[in-house]
Amino acid sequence: MSIQLSVLGSGSAGNCTLVSISQPPDGPRVHRPFNLLIDLGLSLKQTRLRLDTYGMTLDEIDAVILTHLDQDHLRPVWRKTLRTNNIPVHIHQIHSGAARQILDTQNIMCYQNEVVLGPDISIKPIRLAHDDSGTIGFVFQAYQTRFGFATDLGHVPDELLEHFVELDAVALESNYDPEMQRQADRPSFVKQRVMSNHGHLSNAEALEAITQIAARSTLGHVVLIHLSRQCNCPELVSDLWRTKAPELYDCLTIADQHTPTQLLQLSQSLPIPVPELF
Ligand SMILES: [Zn+2]
Repeated sequence: MSIQLSVLGSGSAGNCTLVSISQPPDGPRVHRPFNLLIDLGLSLKQTRLRLDTYGMTLDEIDAVILTHLDQDHLRPVWRKTLRTNNIPVHIHQIHSGAARQILDTQNIMCYQNEVVLGPDISIKPIRLAHDDSGTIGFVFQAYQTRFGFATDLGHVPDELLEHFVELDAVALESNYDPEMQRQADRPSFVKQRVMSNHGHLSNAEALEAITQIAARSTLGHVVLIHLSRQCNCPELVSDLWRTKAPELYDCLTIADQHTPTQLLQLSQSLPIPVPELF
């Protein structure tokens, strides 16, 4: 079994993440992977191009799940393609009314407590504060592998930390550096919104949360997403982690707006059998 993840693109200009789950080889039948996209904030063209990096096409996407409906997470241009390809889009109940203004009803799969994608694949949603309508974080459980995903959250609530345990990987927003935010050439109401409890996570807040998560997990990958182009800098983030969390630095991936991350292998590797010498 293998679970692979690639952040195809992340930032205020668009977000989309690929999760590819291969079923265990439990018999002569070979199953193709189950492919899920988290959010549809890139253009059709860019999504196709970046999937092609891994030799994949849109025809191989089995389902989509959305964190929320802001345009950098759901571009309305997807409506026709989703309908034509008959791709189910899993949307939390709190967003379902607004989603019907953007997508065809036939594509919308409304959920509240859990999304079950197969006998051994499920997603636990966690409601998070962001602007007026909130956003949804997820704990994916596929076979024995668990990973957490959360973006566009104003703060890290206790509920998220209660669920983000025993993870093999975590992807969390690391949106801004407070000093760059304060210095930025943007209206003060925007700065206040971003830095509020209903805005985005700073680099230090993401670091603090992941350090707590790591204490109760065996993290093989830490993926930082949704870095602000105007108010953040990957080198700054990298330096922060190298000095404050060197034990996690080797498993760190910083997602980019324009280039997909590597295809990260999330599943726990099986112990290599020790050969018998005699
Ligand atoms: Zn966003």
